[in-house]
Amino acid sequence: MNFLSLIEAKREGKTLAPEQINEFIREFTAGKVPDYQMAALLMAIFFRGLNNAETTALTLAMRDSGDVLKFPKDKRPLVDKHSTGGIGDKVSLPLAPLLACLGFRVPMISGRGLGITGGTLDKLDSIPGFKTLLPAAQIIAQVQKVGCVICGQTDTMVPADKKIYALRDVSGTVPSIPLIVASILSKKLAENLDALVLDVKFGCAAFMQTKADARKLAQAMVALGNECGTNTHAMLTDMSTPLGRAAGNWLEVKESVACLNPIVLPTSCRQHQMTSQKAVGCTLTDLRTLVIDSAAHLLVQTRKSKTLAAARKLAEACLNSGEPRAKWDAMIVAQGADLKAFNQKLALESTAKVVAEVKSEKAGYISRCDARIIGEVIRNLGGGRLTKDSAINFDVGVDQIAKPGERVEKTGTLCRVHAADPVQAKTAIARLKAAFEISAKRPTKAPLVLEIISR
Ligand code: URA
Repeated sequence: MNFLSLIEAKREGKTLAPEQINEFIREFTAGKVPDYQMAALLMAIFFRGLNNAETTALTLAMRDSGDVLKFPKDKRPLVDKHSTGGIGDKVSLPLAPLLACLGFRVPMISGRGLGITGGTLDKLDSIPGFKTLLPAAQIIAQVQKVGCVICGQTDTMVPADKKIYALRDVSGTVPSIPLIVASILSKKLAENLDALVLDVKFGCAAFMQTKADARKLAQAMVALGNECGTNTHAMLTDMSTPLGRAAGNWLEVKESVACLNPIVLPTSCRQHQMTSQKAVGCTLTDLRTLVIDSAAHLLVQTRKSKTLAAARKLAEACLNSGEPRAKWDAMIVAQGADLKAFNQKLALESTAKVVAEVKSEKAGYISRCDARIIGEVIRNLGGGRLTKDSAINFDVGVDQIAKPGERVEKTGTLCRVHAADPVQAKTAIARLKAAFEISAKRPTKAPLVLEIISR
């Protein structure tokens, strides 16, 4: 293959044929194309883009660069959710067992943190004994038996994405819509799903800073997912403020388990939630709302429910039954967790050396709680990676986060910092104060789910 002519063609804005795309993915995966040439092609794609046919060809070629999971025939549909990433975004953790209890099979292949955004696998690594690297046969067996698995991509799944992603990361070519679409969907299509729901985030702590860019990405993924035979919906969700009240690996596992515990909501609040996306402000937390909404979309997509309202009701009742909490235990035990050690760890107030409160200097309403600052603080505390090989401190993070619209009194808690030592805690507190703005008037609440894209 004359790879140089492909680079030149894309540099000039020409369209690549599917056979050319298949060939360059095959050759690159086999180690026959040097990284510098692939990086040059990626940069040409970054500037010139790919049309729909090229994006489809790239996605399918990447999917087929390795093994595609093959599940036995079963009446339970295969489903998954993918989020483009944010701060405190732990939805996958409670969602997988909830979906298994709703009669789905969930082969949730997840990733690690990227930039300041947290990664599902890093969170799960904080569970004593839990294994995230499973061979394909074990993934399939666990999905069939337990109903859900959350694990990493095996070495033989979508190897083209692994190599291309590593190059994009160091060649300034990550924020390219066709490359993101191909990267995410090649992995999801390798799970052989019946339905997929995408949580495309926008805002200061998201990959896509604006709603318009998030919408473009969501539309491209929904169109391609559906074209490839996986019923795909996307939600555009706000990531200007953290999801839930905790961010940091172990703290998010704790909050996820709390989300799986049944709660009884006041009737007025429940009715509001059933009829409106704007109900996040009531006692139903934003985390629970997004978990329930993600499940509801998949129930509708697989025709298990006729309407989103009916699906939300079903998902909420299931969450409140306590069954998903028991399913969570079954899932983590199947993946090697030491349940006794896990429960002992759950009972601890904190696993970090130092816990300190960030106090408000005045009374009023929270009008801003900046997810980007909180994400950066957690990464600097050791909860994320500053280099590819950084070791993660699972115990650090921020919890008891006061959310926009909530009232806080003078010296009231804005959040708590969990840190490895007092010096780090002090630095974090100073920075976290800047994450919050307090106003005299209660701000109007922005909806969490802004738009749904289904076609
Ligand atoms: N997540 C992925 O898996 N790939 C991307 O390109 C971006 C986010």
